[in-house]
Amino acid sequence: MAKYTGPSCRLCRREGTKLFLKGDRCYTDKCAISRRSTNPGQHGQGRKKISEYGNQLREKQKAKRTYGIMEKQFRRYYRIAERTKGVTGENLLQILERRLDNVIFRMGFGGSRSQARQIVLHGHIYVNGRKVNIPSYSVEVGDVISIKERSKSSALFKENIEQKSAVPEWLKVDTEKMEGQVIALPTREDIDLPIEDRLIVELYSK
Ligand code: SF4
Repeated sequence: MAKYTGPSCRLCRREGTKLFLKGDRCYTDKCAISRRSTNPGQHGQGRKKISEYGNQLREKQKAKRTYGIMEKQFRRYYRIAERTKGVTGENLLQILERRLDNVIFRMGFGGSRSQARQIVLHGHIYVNGRKVNIPSYSVEVGDVISIKERSKSSALFKENIEQKSAVPEWLKVDTEKMEGQVIALPTREDIDLPIEDRLIVELYSK
């Protein structure tokens, strides 16, 4: 699957906000947004006025970049969100949150979403006792997510767990066992991201 391979901090500077794409570094003053929040590129400082369409586009890009998803997949998620009962924008964010790579990050087993994606791809994650190496796997209520027995002693997981921030209420984590459970589906209030989902819906509804 196609994947953005350029500098992560450039994406944050383009969106003008922290997207937390690099793990620990995002919380230090080495963060590019803390040091210089202008748009990247030669004319970065000049771009000020932004149209309605521009705002909608930026919001969509922010969501895609936060979750590390390419356009085609994002559009597919949007169509599913549209067909699902409820508010389309909230449905979309819920679909994104339920991705296994995001859940690994939210549980604190991955330092960033991109690291969590690698962890899943490399076969370190089990769901209900079965290995799942698909980052886009959508978790269900009751799913038990665990780290492969042989990987539990890895310094990476120990460090990530030590440094993990608060786990959202829809997830439960047992750090001793290195295991977590999905106890509810995430609501909009659970998703602490500065994304105006309404603008994404407006963009795709044109
Ligand atoms: Fe974004 Fe993290 Fe880079 Fe800061 S350090 S600009 S939050 S990726």
